[in-house]
Amino acid sequence: MTDYEVIIGLETHIQLNTVTKIFCSCKADSWFDPPNTNICPVCTGLPGVLPVLNKSAVEKGALLAAAMHAQLRPLSFFDRKNYFYPDLPKGYQISQYDQSLAFGGYLDLPMPASAGRPAYVRHVGIIKLHLEEDAGKTKNVGGERWTDFNRCGVPLVEMVTGPDLRSADEAAQYLIRLRQLLRWIGVSEADMERGQLRCDANVSIRPVGATYLNPKTEIKNVNSIESVRDAILKEVERQIREVEAGHKIEAWTLEWDEDKQVLRKMRSKETEADYRYFREPDLLPIRLTEEWKAEILSALPELPLERRQRFMDAYELPEYDAEILTSERRLSDYFEQAVLAYRGDPKRVSNWLMNEILRMLNERGLTADALRLTPTYLADILRLVDSGQINTSTGKSLVEKVEATGKSPQQIVAEEGLAKVSDDAAIRAVCQEVLSESPKEVEAYRAGKQTLMGWFVGQVMKKMRGKADPTLARQILEELLS
Ligand SMILES: [Zn+2]
Repeated sequence: MTDYEVIIGLETHIQLNTVTKIFCSCKADSWFDPPNTNICPVCTGLPGVLPVLNKSAVEKGALLAAAMHAQLRPLSFFDRKNYFYPDLPKGYQISQYDQSLAFGGYLDLPMPASAGRPAYVRHVGIIKLHLEEDAGKTKNVGGERWTDFNRCGVPLVEMVTGPDLRSADEAAQYLIRLRQLLRWIGVSEADMERGQLRCDANVSIRPVGATYLNPKTEIKNVNSIESVRDAILKEVERQIREVEAGHKIEAWTLEWDEDKQVLRKMRSKETEADYRYFREPDLLPIRLTEEWKAEILSALPELPLERRQRFMDAYELPEYDAEILTSERRLSDYFEQAVLAYRGDPKRVSNWLMNEILRMLNERGLTADALRLTPTYLADILRLVDSGQINTSTGKSLVEKVEATGKSPQQIVAEEGLAKVSDDAAIRAVCQEVLSESPKEVEAYRAGKQTLMGWFVGQVMKKMRGKADPTLARQILEELLS
């Protein structure tokens, strides 16, 4: 039997999180609003209106392009993509065709090691990156077709990869990393279930070693990373079955049925010529001056994969820690601020963050920047434990108490008397009390029963509710008994 290689390219649509739509001042995010409430003559395509470009959509699109290492064009144009569909009231979509905002770019995916295969990096090239407006939504209600225009004119970036992915796992990893990046640079909420990140997958197979590309099918309508993975696996199985049976793969568009977990044929795919693209006459080109570009790029932060590597290099963190700590930007900022404030072993900060803090964030649905337990307070707690002023379990309870009250760890330790008592006089008084209450044990100890020392220390600890420094208590007891 022939061995096959899987070839996958992903086409993503990313909803930019601007306040208003791309060509009018209607509210962009309608997720919680009733149908057809955020619409106007521009986004519903009434005659005689003119689109006005939203500057913020260009800036967010350009920031994303830069984060994908794409080249920004100083001059880019809008074009009309003509097609007829009920969710597109104008009869065309304003998009970008041959002179888009950016070109080129890539995303390098670190693929973890798995059964018998070492870790590797998959280089995924970007062949298309442009701005466009979204269309509306339609749905079937009791045999009727209903249309909601709220989403018309919401800014999108369409981004298409080359045929560079080689497995369903790599496709899933691409979406995981893209979602992380979009949230990291703050251009999209990237929630697939809300359609803020949408993905179509182009899938084909070929015999291992071949260099040509076979006809591909396009899988549409997948709204979670898991579904993308499942749908690709199903489609690869089907294509292998077809080819093995001597059939040709046709360039179909397939729709993923989430409930039934099956792919259905939607239509034979349109070719680009069907869209009759031409320049949008109602909009000026986007002129990205050097000044504007510099201003946009000044907002480009260190990217997640770069920060992940730096955490491993600079703080000597294991890959596992670096991956979790850079999963989200605010968490990674929190970690670095805590390390800076602590000035001790970064791995120790990482352990407390991954155990105590992450659990708290997950339980309460918070992000790290919303914690009352600031990075400085966490560093304070670590230092209190390190210096022996409190023990580890008191430290862990302080995490909760600081978060609940917003008070500093030192204040809580003082108010609740949580510090280990290392005051010589206080411990000495308790030691004397224990000895005078236990004449028989004192006599036995002096007669040579040295093992009673542990019992004396235990009595002192009990009277001081565990807060005495046990080493100091032992020294004082030995002195008093000699
Ligand atoms: Zn509008």
